[in-house]
Amino acid sequence: MTDDEPFLTALLESLDEEVNIALNNSVVNVVEKDGNFKSEDIPSSSSDTWIKLPDVVSVVCDLKGSTHLGTGKHDKSTTRIYKSGVEGAVRILHEFEADFIDIQGDGGFGLFWGEHAYERALCAAVTIRTFSGEHFVKRLKARWPEAPETGYKVGIHAGRTLVKRIGTRKVVSEQEAVWAGKPVNYSAKCAQSADRHQVVVTQSVWERFKQNDYIAFSCDCHGGASANLWKDKSVATLPADEQDAVVLEAGWCETCGPSFCDAIMNGETKRDISESVRQTSNKMKIREALNAKAERERLRRQNRMGVW
Ligand SMILES: [Zn+2]
Repeated sequence: MTDDEPFLTALLESLDEEVNIALNNSVVNVVEKDGNFKSEDIPSSSSDTWIKLPDVVSVVCDLKGSTHLGTGKHDKSTTRIYKSGVEGAVRILHEFEADFIDIQGDGGFGLFWGEHAYERALCAAVTIRTFSGEHFVKRLKARWPEAPETGYKVGIHAGRTLVKRIGTRKVVSEQEAVWAGKPVNYSAKCAQSADRHQVVVTQSVWERFKQNDYIAFSCDCHGGASANLWKDKSVATLPADEQDAVVLEAGWCETCGPSFCDAIMNGETKRDISESVRQTSNKMKIREALNAKAERERLRRQNRMGVW
């Protein structure tokens, strides 16, 4: 790079050189960590190390219709909607001990790993759903009846991720943790596909939740436990063999919510559910998707063994 080279030419040449080094010659260490990993220990931009976490549950929440929240003469209402909505959702992620929280404009995501990660994520998601429908939007409508239709849309996915801070070396304010892998991306697509006050869960996460009676079946109010709490749903923006999902429209029951939340967080899974109600849950379409997935995995294993 010479001094008389124009700024832009020099910048692009330098970037080209860096991309070449990064893609071909850079040292990359991937270090696998377990559930005890702390987000404070995510390596910085200057480090060559990426952390691999085998099972991260991502909860994305996205405010419906936020592009219609105007500025200009609506400055005050818009800022209050952002502050009350976003702070409420983030506080919920925090209270359910999300291991990492990122705020992005009108929403954000919480990541959960380690002990009770799935249970904490589910309870946070249902609480955001409850807050959205029963508190945030109710108060908003009372204050500004003409406010655009809004409320939180929530998505959950889980899987392996790689993480590291990326950005300008040695300038912390220009670095962000980057979560490579499906969890954040898929859960964001689930949230986008939801309507307000809905929680959309991918099939791999549902595989865990369906084994928990406190999650899979409704409470004993309104005619007793039923398997109608979760409904089949397709997320068209996900890859073809991963589109089958389920959606929850209800928040916590006003009567049973607190005890159900405690039970789930304490790792309890079994309730007295009649066999006929259990059978209805087996009729869900998501079951075929899970069976098909199990069959694909069986064939993959078989093919691998065939090679040997
Ligand atoms: Zn109830």
